[in-house]
Amino acid sequence: MAGKYKEIKERFGQNCLFGYSAAAFSTYRAGGPFEALVTPPSRLDLAWLRAFCARNDIPFYVLGAGSNILVSDKGLKGVTAVVSKLDKVRVSAQTIEAEAGALWDDVARISVENSLGGLEKTSGIPGTVGGAVFMNAGAFGQETFDALESFEIMDNSGYVKALRKAGVKYGYRKVEGLEGLIILSAVFKLEAADRKELLLERNRILAERSEKQPLEYPSAGSVFKRPTGDAASRLIDAAGLKGLRAGDAQVSNKHAGFIVNLGKATASDIYALMQTVRAEC
Ligand SMILES: Cc1cc2nc3c(=O)[nH]c(=O)nc-3n(C[C@H](O)[C@H](O)[C@H](O)COP(=O)(O)OP(=O)(O)OC[C@H]3O[C@@H](n4cnc5c(N)ncnc54)[C@H](O)[C@@H]3O)c2cc1C
Repeated sequence: MAGKYKEIKERFGQNCLFGYSAAAFSTYRAGGPFEALVTPPSRLDLAWLRAFCARNDIPFYVLGAGSNILVSDKGLKGVTAVVSKLDKVRVSAQTIEAEAGALWDDVARISVENSLGGLEKTSGIPGTVGGAVFMNAGAFGQETFDALESFEIMDNSGYVKALRKAGVKYGYRKVEGLEGLIILSAVFKLEAADRKELLLERNRILAERSEKQPLEYPSAGSVFKRPTGDAASRLIDAAGLKGLRAGDAQVSNKHAGFIVNLGKATASDIYALMQTVRAEC
């Protein structure tokens, strides 16, 4: 173990794994090893790690639940920090404050249980609060940024500041200016609503997801963004690509927007299939 990694291992102990496979971590169940996968137990530890990597020129990445990543079969050099231990959720009046590692669907469920409307249509989106803020995740016409009021970020020296939604440029599945930053927490301003109706809507959406999406196979959800006025899955279906395979990666027969891992797909198989679909549509 090289000197700089030794220091990380000494600080993080069992929370630092070398060579942990992305096939075990990501929802694609594919990809090579992370050189170092670190799960900081506190913000202070995360700040130390971020600054240490910056000072020592170690490539640094941050991940939530790995439900929207494809790691190369060659693996990922450097340090990958997972924020799953920063997962507190606090409800007060019409506000929910959640740390980045909290699971998104837990936050959606908690909002519904507290008669708070604004997140219920995003029920069932896998991943974390940090991942959802990073890409403005959304579904059924509701997006993370609709209810978002502000969020905290950490820069590469470990410095923390809060950003208000009004000061951030965002759009459909994109947020500008977050490269190299770690999202630490988010505050959502919600509306008082009828609990029973919210619960019905949440259950309807969860049922629709399991009816229409191939949740029985590993995937990262819909791969392609929606073109204006159309749906990627419709275009892929119309191009006759449902069922197309590269190795064990397949354009889902159930939902053409999904690429699924039938069992032994490599990241290269998945990537090759993405390129073919892109070229054909
Ligand atoms: C079955 C299935 C269904 C899905 N359905 C939907 C859907 O309906 N709508 C939708 O929008 N998405 C959907 N997704 C995609 C995915 O769940 C979301 O994009 C989710 O928000 C990703 O969160 P994550 O924590 O898993 O992020 P990860 O996959 O861990 O990371 C994704 C990106 O976010 C960055 N990131 C993660 N956490 C942080 C952080 N704390 N600070 C800074 N950057 C961070 C990472 O660096 C990476 O670039 C689906 C995925 C699956 C598998």
